[in-house]
Amino acid sequence: MVSKPRVSNRQLNTIISAWLCIAIGSGLILSDGSTFSIGLSAPLSIGGVILLIVGIAMGNDAEKSPLHEEWEPSAMELRDAGRPMFRIDTTLDKPIRTSILCGRCAEITWIEGRKPKTFTCPFCGVDLWKSEEE
Ligand SMILES: [Zn+2]
Repeated sequence: MVSKPRVSNRQLNTIISAWLCIAIGSGLILSDGSTFSIGLSAPLSIGGVILLIVGIAMGNDAEKSPLHEEWEPSAMELRDAGRPMFRIDTTLDKPIRTSILCGRCAEITWIEGRKPKTFTCPFCGVDLWKSEEE
């Protein structure tokens, strides 16, 4: 399963520009504490913070859009020495659904409701967790 990024390019560009403004702004302060640099870097940093807030606000809008319905966590492979790893995401809004990302086969299983006491990955059959861990 290949995951699609849910962050729009426009939002990404805004956030990157924001960080660049902040980085350049704070870089000017660090490299040279003169009044000229602060006069130049302060607006850059403030602009960067505003851009960052705008970028994050865009993300919130995207979450409310219909795209949110088909949101899935990224299916990156989680591997550890021997022990199967997993990632659990439970939706905040009803209907409550929980996605379980198996670290062994990187497949996502959706279940209704919250995290169950035990879970066995239906794709590779590994026991991801048992109730005694609760
Ligand atoms: Zn699995």
